[in-house]
Amino acid sequence: MAKNTPKAIRGTQDIFGSDAEAFSHVVETFERVRKLYRFRRAEMPVFEKTEVFARAIGETTDVVSKEMYSFEDRGGESLTLRPEFTAGIARAYLTNGWQQHAPLKLATHGPLFRYERPQKGRYRQFHQIDAEIIGAAEPQADVELLAMADQLLRELGISGVTLQLNTLGDGETRGAWRAALIEYFSKVRGDLSEDSQERLEKNPLRILDSKDRRDKMFLADAPKIDEFLSDEAGIFFEEVKSGLDAAGVEYKRAESLVRGLDYYRHTAFEFIPDEGSAAADALGAQSTVLGGGRYDGLMESLGGPATPAVGWAAGIERLAMLVDLEKAQGNDHWVVAVVPVGDAAYIEAQKIASELRSNSIICEMAFRGNVKKRMQKAAAAGARFSLIIGEDELANGVVTVRDMATGEQATMRRNWIPQGVFDLFFENDAAKEQGDEVAPLSERLRANS
Ligand code: ATP
Ligand code: MG
Repeated sequence: MAKNTPKAIRGTQDIFGSDAEAFSHVVETFERVRKLYRFRRAEMPVFEKTEVFARAIGETTDVVSKEMYSFEDRGGESLTLRPEFTAGIARAYLTNGWQQHAPLKLATHGPLFRYERPQKGRYRQFHQIDAEIIGAAEPQADVELLAMADQLLRELGISGVTLQLNTLGDGETRGAWRAALIEYFSKVRGDLSEDSQERLEKNPLRILDSKDRRDKMFLADAPKIDEFLSDEAGIFFEEVKSGLDAAGVEYKRAESLVRGLDYYRHTAFEFIPDEGSAAADALGAQSTVLGGGRYDGLMESLGGPATPAVGWAAGIERLAMLVDLEKAQGNDHWVVAVVPVGDAAYIEAQKIASELRSNSIICEMAFRGNVKKRMQKAAAAGARFSLIIGEDELANGVVTVRDMATGEQATMRRNWIPQGVFDLFFENDAAKEQGDEVAPLSERLRANS
């Protein structure tokens, strides 16, 4: 590295190579799945007035009190790089009058910023995919949202990750549970971690997801939410669970699962790798891949009308670490390399490449180095066939087709492109499906060479 070159900011990543492919595969799969569920796309600014996050997320949360990137702009206004999507989406919903679309199903993805201690799976700039249903109080909304998350993980081929489900009840439930937790933990206050002693008055629910050994020994006997569940909250939770059963979504009840943000009510959930699974190994300590819940009450904290809503977010980097790229992409892509030999062939090669790409065939042009180098480039591109064009081919109005798997070569009429190339791929795929061998290239191309 040049010694004068500035370094990247700690906790940020330059993503490239297979990591970048896995990243984009996660986003593409999300885009496909959210359309199946008819979630509409929205883009929000990366920064908002600091107040948006402070009011919506809550001053006592770790995110607001410790993790925000806030700064004054040149006009002296306090702005913050978004640490999460929901607050900005809620602000947009209110300021744009999106109430007219309620219930509104929204999806987005992009970068988020949190001042955290960087480690594997934890960054200061990271990315999420995010889905929200705003203006729906029905448990069916929670079910639909969770079914989408579950389908997304399945389509990404991620296994060994289980939906952990809890209810935080309604306001009444949560208040009574909170009081009981304060009473219980106050008795052992001196034995709790410093963080949890501090949480005790401000945010006692958070003690339940403490990872500190000193706190963990008191968790098993802590008061359970079910003892305080109002009838209404109990019925809501039953409806969510029976809906999930009907949708074929598997889950595990997680009685002490709470969410970090103050505004959650009723449904709270996280998708977490099973202990000992490959997914758990891959993620190490930063194990939650997707989390969310119902946030009735958030809109009011931003001065809006009472608006029930439910949503989730998942870390793209963490999902990407679990994706098996080879399996995801398969090796069945229709990839062709065009290899011009000599200057005169280049123009024709360029025409052929355009024709192939316009017809959705993935095409790499290998134009650099000697013929050997060009063929190596063709192989590295993952081409199943190469189309070689030299002076002889130009003169005879043909291209030389090389089957990259067998090394066999035969000629194809130039004006048979792209149809002739399609036929080659169709025949290959059909033979593979039937478990048959494909005929030699010379035989297959006899009719149009
Ligand atoms: P954690 O307990 O890991 O700190 P969180 O509760 O702060 O997670 P959420 O605010 O619910 O996380 O964000 C949803 C998802 O975003 C997480 O499950 C995780 O996949 C991802 N995520 C959160 N913070 C980071 C980070 N700093 N770096 C990478 N991914 C993150
Ligand atoms: Mg966090």
